[in-house]
Amino acid sequence: MAASTAQVPQGSGQPDKNANGTPDTSNDDKDWPGKMTASYQDATSPEAVTGRDIMRSEHLLEDLADGITDSLKLPYDIPLIGKQCDTANAYWSPDDKSITICYEDAADALDIYTKAGDDNPRASAVNSEIATFYHETGHMVIDLYDLPATGKEEDVADQLAAYILLAPGPDGKIDPESVQAVKDFAREFKGYSDQKGGEIDEGQLSDVHSLDLARMYNLECWVYGADPVGNADLVKNGSLPEDRADGCEDEYNKLSSSWDTLLGPYLK
Ligand SMILES: [Zn+2]
Repeated sequence: MAASTAQVPQGSGQPDKNANGTPDTSNDDKDWPGKMTASYQDATSPEAVTGRDIMRSEHLLEDLADGITDSLKLPYDIPLIGKQCDTANAYWSPDDKSITICYEDAADALDIYTKAGDDNPRASAVNSEIATFYHETGHMVIDLYDLPATGKEEDVADQLAAYILLAPGPDGKIDPESVQAVKDFAREFKGYSDQKGGEIDEGQLSDVHSLDLARMYNLECWVYGADPVGNADLVKNGSLPEDRADGCEDEYNKLSSSWDTLLGPYLK
């Protein structure tokens, strides 16, 4: 097919750097030039220094960026930025086409898992930032590829995080460390709920994000649904109510096959 007639995602609005026709969805368009590139900005506040230390010592952003570069076609370079924001946050910027993970987000996670009594709260904090990154990747792919998404995009982004982390490897098994990352991410929302004193106000009910505990139960449901035998502990220990658990395998399979379809054209 001539480049000029290649299908172009509507609204991508990006320059055709590799001159093979603007980034398109055809299966043979393998030479998109984009990479994800990690960088760490300065940190001065105590929280930011703590968060930056957690991320840097694990080479977290470098590894996450390399994983995306290896697996997703990107139409142009996408910065992954660690920085001090003076608030705990992480976000995809549709204007800058970049993902930012605030150092304070990792510091806040460390605080949450320390209060939860974790043996290794730092490892849990790293896990939660891994899952947070894939949540932001969810916003990224919806924007970059103009993917259809109805319903709350924040829930869809949580689904992509679960989909990536719970996908079986070549041996058909789900990586136990990735399962733990989703479980830790789920527990982080319990921490957020506790930070708000368990109160639910109008602001939370009307927010673009679902309620903290609803997000926790969703993530637990998908972990359980991806492997009901291996993750039976979530139901046995009372974390995930049985009424919800009954439908989780179907829920996860639907989520997983939908993302297979949506991302298929963009996988390397
Ligand atoms: Zn989000």
